[in-house]
Amino acid sequence: MMQQAVADYFARFGVPMEVVSFVDRPIGHFIDGRETVATADRIDLVEPFTRSRLTGVVNGTAADVDMAVASARGALAGPWGKMSALDRQKLILRLAAAMETDADVLAHLEAIGVGKAISDARLIDVPGSIANLEYFAGWTSKLDGRTTNAVALPGESFTYTIKEPVGVVAAIVPWNFPLQILSWKLAAALACGCTVVCKPSELTPLSAMRLAHLASKVGFPDGVINVVNGYGHVIGQALASHRGIDKLSFTGSTRVGTSVGKTALETMKRLTLELGGKSPVIVTGKADLDIAASAILVGIFMNSGQVCDAGSRVYADASIHEELLARLRTGAEDMPIGAGLDPNSKITPLVSSAHRSSVLQHIDAAHAEGAVLVTGEGSGGGGREDGILQPTIFDQCSEKMGIFREEIFGPVLGVSRVNTLDDAVERANSSIYGLAAAIYSDSVDETIALSRRLKAGNIYINAHGLVDPTMPFGGLGASGFGKDMGPEQLDGFLSTKSVYVQLNR
Ligand code: NDP
Repeated sequence: MMQQAVADYFARFGVPMEVVSFVDRPIGHFIDGRETVATADRIDLVEPFTRSRLTGVVNGTAADVDMAVASARGALAGPWGKMSALDRQKLILRLAAAMETDADVLAHLEAIGVGKAISDARLIDVPGSIANLEYFAGWTSKLDGRTTNAVALPGESFTYTIKEPVGVVAAIVPWNFPLQILSWKLAAALACGCTVVCKPSELTPLSAMRLAHLASKVGFPDGVINVVNGYGHVIGQALASHRGIDKLSFTGSTRVGTSVGKTALETMKRLTLELGGKSPVIVTGKADLDIAASAILVGIFMNSGQVCDAGSRVYADASIHEELLARLRTGAEDMPIGAGLDPNSKITPLVSSAHRSSVLQHIDAAHAEGAVLVTGEGSGGGGREDGILQPTIFDQCSEKMGIFREEIFGPVLGVSRVNTLDDAVERANSSIYGLAAAIYSDSVDETIALSRRLKAGNIYINAHGLVDPTMPFGGLGASGFGKDMGPEQLDGFLSTKSVYVQLNR
């Protein structure tokens, strides 16, 4: 049973009964086409705004992973593996349509689970996830190999390649965009004919479970999409080391990704690692400051800063530094703060008390290291009862400070003044990460030149955080390797077989 504070919160914002009945029960796994009954051993799910118990999710074990992998292997060898590409395409489109019908429920589950703004869940998370499925559905029928003209073989031969699904995929996803990041992995894996075992964060399992139910309802064969819940060090670890998993697609922190990657390589799994970031933002003297300020605010404060490619360190040209800072300050102070379910909120609670404490420690360190507070949380701040942190901006930051080196994953922006573009580029590229970078300038020459010089997998010009299914997303350096989305992702879920036929023997 959910605690009274959560029930009151739901009543205040008119949460639909369908949502309430989906969350107000023990949450199990989804294995082999059905939800397992949650055992007595459960992990408490805490609603981030009220910080009260919402429900319990099954605390899974390695034996549950074994069951899910066996089911996924069975589906691969059985109905799913035998299905024509066009039928697979139709099923993926049916799932996308079912999500469209269920969009309001899914948006509520994201807002309730993560604590995020429901307006963002409605505008970004849910439609973005649907778009991914729709885009990749089209690829199912276009995964052809090649015929080649052999150039070094004696006699006559016929040589060609075949693309085959890589097999069973483990998709390990974080808590900040649970549905959307899952859809990044699921859509391409299904298009390629793989089956999937998903591991959501133990903090946010709701939308993945809902998706699995919807897939089953629209006719996906049992075992194609499985969800195993529980702690990362148990379920994630079991997936990374499992011999029945062929490919591991992981999104999460660099620390966990490094260890998961090592484990996966012990069984020679194919591997994609989408990891952390500390993305730089360069604002030149030729920038439109209205555009720059509003996009920078979105780039750092969207999802209350819990975004992997958040633009968290700004290098502002000396000629516009003061003016930009003034606009950033006003914009941050005007941001609507409140409950995730309030359609007017933009800054909402962080996902958990533990994560909030970690962000506060970074803020305290910034104060102690000499960064100058422009607006937001003072040192020893975080006095609110509701899990929210105010949008916080520091000026006079440098790479010697943690605020310019470490991923904070909260609503905290650092700014520094630069005198030349060379200086800005050198400092922007000094991070171990390379996930994204943003450039603000009205000069085409300047933006193109900077986009070539910056060390990052994703470059945004006069904008931040744009995502499209056609565009590969992924990082360099400590931000990992491999891509989600775009045609580039497909190869990660396919293996290429080369066939030689000797003719006229
Ligand atoms: P974590 O690395 O803590 O966790 C990510 C996932 O891995 C979770 O499902 C977690 O499960 C699981 N996990 C934890 N420990 C292990 C383990 N030993 N073996 C296998 N799996 C494990 O990241 P967060 O969930 O805290 O997410 C935030 C991080 O994700 C940030 O660093 C952010 O930058 C990154 N991220 C990267 C993105 C990208 O595309 N590059 C996009 C979004 C986020 P559990 O939570 O149950 O412990």
